[in-house]
Amino acid sequence: MELPFRIGSGYDSHRFVPGRRLVLCGQVIEHSAGLLGHSDADAPVHALIDAILGALAMGDIGRLFPDSDPSFKDAESMALLRNVMSRIRDWQIGNADLTIITEMPKLAPFMDAMRQNLADALQTDIQNISIKAKTAEKLGPVGAGEALEAYAAVLMVRKEK
Ligand code: MG
Repeated sequence: MELPFRIGSGYDSHRFVPGRRLVLCGQVIEHSAGLLGHSDADAPVHALIDAILGALAMGDIGRLFPDSDPSFKDAESMALLRNVMSRIRDWQIGNADLTIITEMPKLAPFMDAMRQNLADALQTDIQNISIKAKTAEKLGPVGAGEALEAYAAVLMVRKEK
């Protein structure tokens, strides 16, 4: 039996380094540091991609877009997300729920723009996209401002034939 719904979860983390642009959910965010990575290091988008791939048992972001491949150097993660969506034509997003954990910067001013960016890439309404921001209460490397973590959960819905 195959259900018309499938859930997926994803996780990612990246280290903060000075001199890099901070991009979260496709939004450039003014900050003293950015995230280190082979691509633009948009951790919440990486978590979301893994959640979508996980829901459909299609592997993971590292398998689809290996960081050994120079064509993904400084890749725009939102373009990778759109690429994933183009591969899963039988399915659409029901809803997505993300959590971003970072001490700095405060993300509230960017929340609606980030949600709209994801909604556009996922071809869904902004009401179906939730992003929550938390701090790590000064605990661990995230709490020390050395890294940012992101979690994502999605519900995928089979398109009507
Ligand atoms: Mg990543």
